[in-house]
Amino acid sequence: MTARILDFLASRRPEGPCLVVDLDVVRDNFNAFRHALPDTRIYYAVKANPAPEVLQLLADLGSSFDCASIPEIEMVLATGATADRISFGNTIKKERDVARALELGVNLFAVDCEAEVDKIARQAEATGTVGARVFCRILCDGAGAEWPLSRKFGCEPSMAAEVLEHAHRAGLTAYGISFHVGSQQANLDAWDGALSSASAIFGELAERGIQLKMVNLGGGFPTRYLKDVPATEAYGRSIDEAVRRHFGNHVPETIIEPGRGMVGGAGMIKAEVVLISKKHRDDEQRWVYLDIGKFGGLAETMEEAIRYPIRTRHDGSATAPCVLAGPTCDSADVLYEKTPYELPISLEIGDEVLIEGTGAYTTTYSAVAFNGFSPLKSYVI
Ligand SMILES: *Cc1c(COP(=O)(O)O)cnc(C)c1O
Repeated sequence: MTARILDFLASRRPEGPCLVVDLDVVRDNFNAFRHALPDTRIYYAVKANPAPEVLQLLADLGSSFDCASIPEIEMVLATGATADRISFGNTIKKERDVARALELGVNLFAVDCEAEVDKIARQAEATGTVGARVFCRILCDGAGAEWPLSRKFGCEPSMAAEVLEHAHRAGLTAYGISFHVGSQQANLDAWDGALSSASAIFGELAERGIQLKMVNLGGGFPTRYLKDVPATEAYGRSIDEAVRRHFGNHVPETIIEPGRGMVGGAGMIKAEVVLISKKHRDDEQRWVYLDIGKFGGLAETMEEAIRYPIRTRHDGSATAPCVLAGPTCDSADVLYEKTPYELPISLEIGDEVLIEGTGAYTTTYSAVAFNGFSPLKSYVI
């Protein structure tokens, strides 16, 4: 929570639930990453928060960008950043989108199988692109992450060498390896195992005469929610040590793709208590309904994975556990029930609540008018 956000809310009094993002925090986070990993290029994961002001600031600070689609690529280009600062990091791309990206000058692509390599090879040839680079994403178990990524992206490390050799034979530049250790990763050692696999793949390809150059260390850097998380510097130190442990004197080019860690802590949602009730006169537990829920931007409360800090004007007074729910007529729209949420007993209908750490993965997860509720409004200050 920052004074600038509180001042904005106090003076502008925006109506309805909204997210306010403080660009000063984004700038501090960018500088912290740059300081923690000085030899690593930063590719901001655009999907975490694609607000034009956020992209513009990061472009001005010298960031590069990890994009998942053509619209994301176009949003980045609109800042004036050139296409050589963009990675098309989605492993699942339509071939016509690959063609469009190449036409726009994008030259770095993620793959995790030979069929995806073939799309890029065909389109590189069709567009006359020389030296398009591909990196192969490998699976990572995601242990220690609060928002683990499934097996949807990446191949077994044992398959990566074949995929990259296939790319090399198809006339592409087999550029490197990527992985993602799972989002909101609290374990500083999570990068170690994947770096060990990456190093083995580098060795295997070197034996086949192909020199890989880059390791993409992905995202996973946390936002502080209810629990403390290690500082960015600690991640930097641990990753740097792991890179040296596994690559020795042949340290490759490295990149990171922070999303949550760049913008999560920069945002705060203002919402309102719509109803407080009980299911039975004798129940101890209250149900607290807000004017924002899973469909209004808090999708990451799915399975109660992300627990946001919530502030009210009654903070400091006695609390009791509540079930916290959103306003829509869908029974899935419950935020915290398995582990109830402690809220002040004096909380009242109509009270404002401030939900911290909501700068990442909120606005773009909000439905367009499900149940007639507007998409989450966003102010970037
Ligand atoms: C979503 C995503 C990221 C960002 O992950 P965070 O955990 O938010 O930092 C990075 N890289 C890729 C390929 C992604 O899909």
